[in-house]
Amino acid sequence: MTTGSLVLEPGQFEPPAGQITFLYLPAQDLFVRRAARLRQLANGHALGGYLQFLASLADTQQTALQRLPAPVLPAPDEQRLCRQHGMPLLSATTWPREPVWHEALSAILRQMSQIDLPVAAQETIRSLARQTPAYLERQAGLMLMEEWEELQPNEAPFIGAALQVYWLRLASALDAQTVGRLEPSGRCPVCGSRPVAGMVRGDGLRYLSCSLCSCQWHLVRVTCSSCRSTQGINLHTLHGADDPVRAESCDACNSYLKLLYLEKEGLLDPIADDLATLALDMLLEHEGFLNAGSNLLFHPGRGPE
Ligand code: FE
Ligand code: FE
Repeated sequence: MTTGSLVLEPGQFEPPAGQITFLYLPAQDLFVRRAARLRQLANGHALGGYLQFLASLADTQQTALQRLPAPVLPAPDEQRLCRQHGMPLLSATTWPREPVWHEALSAILRQMSQIDLPVAAQETIRSLARQTPAYLERQAGLMLMEEWEELQPNEAPFIGAALQVYWLRLASALDAQTVGRLEPSGRCPVCGSRPVAGMVRGDGLRYLSCSLCSCQWHLVRVTCSSCRSTQGINLHTLHGADDPVRAESCDACNSYLKLLYLEKEGLLDPIADDLATLALDMLLEHEGFLNAGSNLLFHPGRGPE
């Protein structure tokens, strides 16, 4: 592992806050691009079979997304109230989930059942397809409350995939101009979830990518997403400075978050590239850092608040 020192000062490349686009809503073809990136990463990768499985899962997410009806968003006065009180509009933990997300899950399971998968995965798909709405609601609630130890690890990726579809559909119908910054800034301003990773764009700005609704929000670089410290921030890579995926650690709160550098590799995807670099997580965790991010398809977020 290479451990780098600071290469940037906070705000070095940042235009004034008023000139920065604060929020990008998710694209409607996000899962198509994710599937393509996963297949690209799977080629020659030690976890190639796993990444191919995730590519199939992303295919099914796109199909499920296209079948969802138009969402019902909070009324304008409710949105105004959320903004006034610094609350996320589509809170992962308090938004009344519509049962339509079960239909997204059914579509995902139906399509996955037609793929050649290991027997254990086939059994998980069959058993999840038979579960009651009450069971599914309980599992979703546990996942969104980050009660990972209560979840069945084999079921969680399918439930997470369906919830991502549902929340992406909701978030993409918002007007980005109506969403304000939120404290803590390490949480998604739309749904309050943890990011998967940060994306450093070609313009040098860093955006955190939501693990649930897939929105991306701006956070000034070389700032810890968990505690906002600008001191003791270090970069770590697996292979050196040319790695498009690095981890940014914080000595103040012992957390880290991955950073994906789009100027090095334009096809990067937060979920795909996070899961293709689990070796980087192992190294950071070996050094005593906790992941401040979360990946609903695999990696439980247990980082600091
Ligand atoms: Fe979100
Ligand atoms: Fe920190």
